[in-house]
Amino acid sequence: MARTKQSAKRSTGGTAPKGELGTSTASTTVQKAADVIMREQDASPQAPSQPVGTTPARRARSSTGAALDQVKDAGQATRKKRAVAAKGGVKQRVPSSPPPPPPFNDGRDKFCYLCHNGGRCLVCSNCPRVVCSPHLAHEPIPAHEMSKLTFVCLSCHIRYVRGHRKEEKVEDRRGQQAKKADSKYMAFYRQDGADRVAHLPRAVQVTAPYHVGHHARVYTSSPVGIILFRLRTLPGEGSVPRVVYEAMKPYFVDEEVGNLVYREVVFDLNNDEDVAKHHTAIMEALAVFSSFEGGRILLFVYTHADEETGTLFFGANLAAQTLRNWFDVLIPEEARTILRAHSTTLFMLCCGALVAADAAYEELKAHCLSLRITRLLAFEAGAFQAAFATPFFLIYAYKFIIENANFDDHQLANVLSQSLYLGRHSKVIVMSSPDSWETLTVAEYIWSSRGSRPWGEVLPIQCVGCSALRTYDVVEKKGNYIATCTEDGCSSVLEFKKREGDVVLKGVEGNWLKRKRE
Ligand SMILES: [Zn+2]
Ligand SMILES: [Zn+2]
Ligand SMILES: [Zn+2]
Repeated sequence: MARTKQSAKRSTGGTAPKGELGTSTASTTVQKAADVIMREQDASPQAPSQPVGTTPARRARSSTGAALDQVKDAGQATRKKRAVAAKGGVKQRVPSSPPPPPPFNDGRDKFCYLCHNGGRCLVCSNCPRVVCSPHLAHEPIPAHEMSKLTFVCLSCHIRYVRGHRKEEKVEDRRGQQAKKADSKYMAFYRQDGADRVAHLPRAVQVTAPYHVGHHARVYTSSPVGIILFRLRTLPGEGSVPRVVYEAMKPYFVDEEVGNLVYREVVFDLNNDEDVAKHHTAIMEALAVFSSFEGGRILLFVYTHADEETGTLFFGANLAAQTLRNWFDVLIPEEARTILRAHSTTLFMLCCGALVAADAAYEELKAHCLSLRITRLLAFEAGAFQAAFATPFFLIYAYKFIIENANFDDHQLANVLSQSLYLGRHSKVIVMSSPDSWETLTVAEYIWSSRGSRPWGEVLPIQCVGCSALRTYDVVEKKGNYIATCTEDGCSSVLEFKKREGDVVLKGVEGNWLKRKRE
């Protein structure tokens, strides 16, 4: 006999009585005690990442423009501080509420863009990247000379040479004699009258491979806020935002305490009193971002969506009557003002009716325009489970927050292709505006795979002709996928055509090799 068992639902759909909140006349079916909780924590001090078995990573900084030759041992300084604190010499810093504004630093990256490690680093005079000195082999440069030189990182050199090559081609076509750029990597330059000349007689030898993307950064100098608005009945432990926060911590070192903040606002709103408390909690959560501009906020909304209408839940037992009312209550205008001062991405961790139900989708688009934040992401899965999106968000944070990659189709395809089962589970909807929220652009990202989702459509597990399981053999013919049942006597054939206008995005490059080792 087949066994069934009941386990807790992790998806974010359901039904509940509908009500309106945030107006003094609103009457609701449920009256419960207010239960708005706010959690907050600062990034706890972390040592910079370092390979096991080496001395603590050492980092260095310098003033803008000058080649750097100053070494600082962050790890040791931290240990000393802690040792003193342990002896009762000085009080350890206790996070207060709200914490002081994040300290801005020199705007330079903290870790080498080739290997993500810290240590003795050279600071590019042209961009915020830094490069570990040991990656570059060259004749020794005395410290007094080094301080007068400018250092150009590999990324800037490559961009410069490529840009110059294009110009040379244009000039060649015009019949002009173009001055060829030297493609040799000289790295260190000195000013010689009006000219900038290579300091060393021979090219610098690069001894390290890329551990990350060719033009990646380790961009931790702009504060990052991870804000979660969570319906009380949905699980907090292991939630996507918290996992992302934990994963990013090692990139935000001692001096940047406050540059990575995590705030969780738990809501279960049933009446206007709850709403008032919720607003206070939201403003407290965002307080640290109210005193400056240009940070990066990942705002996660984790709540149920009504399975039929797609409207969102205010509380465990109360769904909003309209999406508009929900947004007005959950993200009040004064909070929006703060969010707009930063690069804010709103992630809707709710069931897909939000974007599948026509009325909700139209309302969401209208609200996205009125929010005027950087972008909004939603998921189309009917019974969306946020856990399926955990790998996606981890890679997303690495790519778009740590590396500060451009948010474009190429980079997004890279992230999506590394997102494990997200593509099988859900389409991803991205809303943004090309023109400061005059108009809205919506793109749907759909996973396509010959054997499972030919051109984004579901290949049935079961043959529609003979009811056998997994008997479709799929081949590509003239750009279409033809699925033929291989079962004897069955003639079921399904055809999947590429939709006009669909753009195929290429994912990550490379394959893993397996090699036998003695
Ligand atoms: Zn550079
Ligand atoms: Zn390095
Ligand atoms: Zn069949």
